[in-house]
Amino acid sequence: MAGEEGYLPLPKGFSTHAIHHDQEPEKWDSMAVVTPLVTSTTFKQYGPADFKKYEYGRSANPTREVLENLLAKLDNGKHGLCFASGLGAQSAILGLLKSGENVISGDDIYGGTNRLFSKVATRFGIETTFVDFLDLSNLEKAIKSNTKMIWIETPTNPTLKVFDIKAVSEIAKKHNIILAVDNTFLTSYLQRPLDLGADITVYSLTKYMNGHSDVIMGALTTNNTKLWEELKFLQNSMGIIPSPFDCYQVIRSLKTLSLRMQQHGKNSLAVAKYLEAHPKIEKVLHPGLPTHPQHELSKKQTSGYCGMVTLYLKGNLDHSKKFLQSLKVFTLAESLGGYESLAELPCVMTHASVPEEQRKILNISDTLVRLSVGLEDIEDTIGDLEQALKQI
Ligand SMILES: *Cc1c(COP(=O)(O)O)cnc(C)c1O
Repeated sequence: MAGEEGYLPLPKGFSTHAIHHDQEPEKWDSMAVVTPLVTSTTFKQYGPADFKKYEYGRSANPTREVLENLLAKLDNGKHGLCFASGLGAQSAILGLLKSGENVISGDDIYGGTNRLFSKVATRFGIETTFVDFLDLSNLEKAIKSNTKMIWIETPTNPTLKVFDIKAVSEIAKKHNIILAVDNTFLTSYLQRPLDLGADITVYSLTKYMNGHSDVIMGALTTNNTKLWEELKFLQNSMGIIPSPFDCYQVIRSLKTLSLRMQQHGKNSLAVAKYLEAHPKIEKVLHPGLPTHPQHELSKKQTSGYCGMVTLYLKGNLDHSKKFLQSLKVFTLAESLGGYESLAELPCVMTHASVPEEQRKILNISDTLVRLSVGLEDIEDTIGDLEQALKQI
C-alpha cells in the first residue's frame, strides 16, 4: 500500500496541494471556494487585440488553466497541459517530431499508443523501434542518430513489468533524446517521473487521476519551458483540447486522489495474495508481491502500487470466458482506474489489435485476465472472485 516500509516516501503536502493549489477564492471576483466552471468560448477585449488574459477558449480557458497548474504542482513540475484524451496528449507530443525522426518505445505499451506509433506516425515519416526496456542494452543498441524520443510506460499494461526510469533517463540525457513517461497507472501520488529525470510525464486522466469513469481526458507535465511552449502551441494548433466541464470534474476528482490510491493499493494487494494461494491460478503479477521480478526496483522508484492485478488461470480460453462471465461485483469491461472493479480478457479485448506473434512474445495468453480492483468492500471483491473460480 502507499507509503509502505521500504518504498519511497509519499510526496509531502500532496493532499493539501490537490485541494488548494491555484484554487484560492481570491482569484475570482466572486470569492468562489469551488473553482468556477467557465463555459464561455470567447472573452471581451478592451480594444482590438488588447485583452485582459483570455481571448478564445481553445487557446486558454480559466477552468482548464486551474487544472493545468494543479497537475504541474502535483507532479513537482513547472508546466501542465490538458488534452481531449490520453491519446490526444500523445498526438501533441508526436507533433514535436519531424519526418525522418525515430522513436524508441517500450514493447509492452497501451494498445492505442502502439497503434498511434505504428499506424499513424508512420504516415508522417516517423518510425518507431519497439524494445524491451528490462534489458537496457536493448535501448543502447536501438539508439540511432535520428532518435528524437524515448517512450516508456511503467508498470506496463497488462504484464506489469517495471522499468528503471532513472537509468533510462541517464541514457536519454547522454544522447540528448527526449524521455516521455506514461504515468497513467501510478499517478502523481505514487510515481513522479520528472523527479526521476523524465522530460515529459504523460497521462490518460481517464483512469486513476479522474477515477470515476466519467471523463475521457489526457495531460502532460514538464519542467522544460521550451518544450512546454512548443506543446502549448501544438495543443492550440491541433485543437486537441478538453471541455471546461470535464476539467471541472477532474479538479474535483483530484481532491480525493491520495485516498483513492491508498485504498486501491490495499485492495489490489489483498486480491493478489488471495489469488496467489488459489489452486486454480497459475500465476499472479502485482508489483507489491515479493514474487514480482521487479519488486525491489518498484520500491526504489515508487511510493506504492495501484489497483491493477494480472493473473493467469489454469486452463484455456473457455475457462477464461466462463470465469469472466461468472463475476458479479467485477464488471466485465475495458478501461481501468475507476472506483468500480473491472475485469477483462486482453487477448480479445484491449490488446486484440496487438499482432498474435507479438502477444506471444509478451505473454498475453488466452488465460491472462486483467483486473482493475476498485474501492468496494474487500470481502465482497474477494468473495466474487471465489464464487467465479468455483464455476470453472
Ligand atoms: C487508457 C490509456 C491511454 C489512452 O488514454 P485515453 O484517455 O483513452 O485516450 C494511454 N496510456 C495508458 C497506460 C492507458 O491506460
